[in-house]
Amino acid sequence: MTKVDTLLEDTPGKEVLLLANEAIARGVLESAVRLVALYPGTPSSEIGNNLARMAPHLENFYFEFSSNEKVAMEVAGAAAISGARSMMVCKGPGLNVAADPFFSLAYVGVRAGMVIVVADDPSMWSSQNENDSRYYALMGNMPMLEPADPIEAKEMLHKAYEYSERLELPFLLRTTTRVNHTRAPIIYDDIPARPETVSFEKDPFRFVPVPAVARKRHPWLLEQIEKAREISNSSELNFFESSGDFGIITSGVSYNYVLEALSTMEIDAEILKIGMSHPVPDEKIKELLGRHERIVIVEELQPFLETHARRIAQLQEINVTILGKEQDYFPEVYEYTPKIVMNAFSKMMNRESPVDWEDIEDTKKELPELPPRPPLLCPGCPHRATYYAIRTATRGKAIYPSDIGCYTLSISPPLETADILFDMGSSVTTACGIARVTDQDVVASIGDSTFFASGLPGIANAVYNQHPIALVVLDNRTTAMTGHQPHPGTGLTGMGEQVPGLDIEKVCEGLGVRYVKTVNPFDSMADLVADIRQMLDWIRENQAPAVMISKAPCALLTAAERRRKEERPSPYYVDEETCTGCKRCLNRLSCPAMYLDTETGKAAIDKDLCNFCGTCVDVCPVGAIMQEE
Ligand code: SF4
Ligand code: SF4
Repeated sequence: MTKVDTLLEDTPGKEVLLLANEAIARGVLESAVRLVALYPGTPSSEIGNNLARMAPHLENFYFEFSSNEKVAMEVAGAAAISGARSMMVCKGPGLNVAADPFFSLAYVGVRAGMVIVVADDPSMWSSQNENDSRYYALMGNMPMLEPADPIEAKEMLHKAYEYSERLELPFLLRTTTRVNHTRAPIIYDDIPARPETVSFEKDPFRFVPVPAVARKRHPWLLEQIEKAREISNSSELNFFESSGDFGIITSGVSYNYVLEALSTMEIDAEILKIGMSHPVPDEKIKELLGRHERIVIVEELQPFLETHARRIAQLQEINVTILGKEQDYFPEVYEYTPKIVMNAFSKMMNRESPVDWEDIEDTKKELPELPPRPPLLCPGCPHRATYYAIRTATRGKAIYPSDIGCYTLSISPPLETADILFDMGSSVTTACGIARVTDQDVVASIGDSTFFASGLPGIANAVYNQHPIALVVLDNRTTAMTGHQPHPGTGLTGMGEQVPGLDIEKVCEGLGVRYVKTVNPFDSMADLVADIRQMLDWIRENQAPAVMISKAPCALLTAAERRRKEERPSPYYVDEETCTGCKRCLNRLSCPAMYLDTETGKAAIDKDLCNFCGTCVDVCPVGAIMQEE
């Protein structure tokens, strides 16, 4: 990661190699943004991580890791309505969480610039679905910019604030994983001063969209979108490039693949690169449609630009052939690659691809196969101990609703404790539904960050409606999967201040949960199994929800703490004499630090990987796993 000092430098004109996410964090300074609120989500995580590191060094700047995306949208929206430039950041599915205030914000508008950065994840490298957030722009009547690389990411951020203030509307800046995680040389601009303070000017008949107000605001919003369309048609973000026998319309990262395909295949075509993709630049698209007999649309995921191009052709009565997803030239799923784009061009033009993809595939086959690496919880992860206990206590017969976070990795054998998952917080609510229609035990699990993000309404629902569910809160003291950001339970703010963290046990009790117990999953496996059985007995008897908080820090935090203190605990080992080779530890715990020694047929521990949690000791039926004195 780039040093925070580098991102803070007031050195206009300097060139620095930055990730797009770092360029966006830098752009926040250059755009005089006063407040940023977000809930962490990959592929946007580095924006927040960098801003959190920068925030304590900045005057008149506030940054927070909000408890969820809806909260972040409302915090940032209110700041912009008060007259301070603001930003909200999320990943694609995070915008679903924030959808409610998103739609209202467009109606009421803002007084200072507001940008919502949404990072979509084609191919779902770290997401549960392939949100195409461009449709939020369409449905919510919110203008949108789409950078193709880190340089554009920062430039478009500045433009987004300028346009946002011109139209009094928030702007979406939509990126995709391949843009977020690309590095490029970025030229620094000035860092202007941020306003020390602003004051909220009351205007309830604008900012309180009761039906009578909202009815008036909707036509206003449509008028603003028409003005945005004029900007889109004249903006330099939407530009024509090169020339040739046919036209190409493209946006975002696909633009790069188009350039590579045209140069590799020596094809001449006129490109309309769309940087402001909502509202689409109708006039420019019309111009291109009128100039060529054939137009190719290259865009990842759904046919957003393609549908617009077909609409414009039909309305303008332009007789043009539009080639894209509708004729199966391009897929509607997963990330694009130069290969996908070149193959589509080859098919359209009925010509051989200059790249011998088969040869590349054959070369790949000659390389030694990488060992399969199924998604696994880390060695020493406290969740492994908890899930092992849950499976043992329920003999694998309960239903296990899961949630968004590291714990979803328990889907893999042998733990297999993830049976159903919709979104953040759904472990609690899906458990309620299952418990109401089956007579099976239901043991749901949720993480600590997710508990605060979206678990609370589900718990209130379970208590009020007396759903007989067991909820295990896997409290590893951090938001682990997105890079260890703090949350309301950790006692650390995004500004780096220590504050009293919220106590999960007390929160549950406050919500009316009558059975709440906190355990340490590393204390005793036998006790943990007994605790879970006792909780299930209580639920059967009382027909009400119960919560167990399984609390132990994330293995990566423990390891970092040990390194900091230069501690080296005594290693764990398998005593060859005692081990019977039953493989129970390997087959039922699956700690990545354990393996089968093929020479002895006994289990063994890789000392470099072991994280000293001691869970395997409790799992071995003959006491063959020990810690050196
Ligand atoms: S569970 Fe114990 S006895 Fe069985 S393989 Fe593992 S170490 Fe050996
Ligand atoms: S080998 Fe045992 S002690 Fe080491 S990390 Fe794995 S379960 Fe924990």
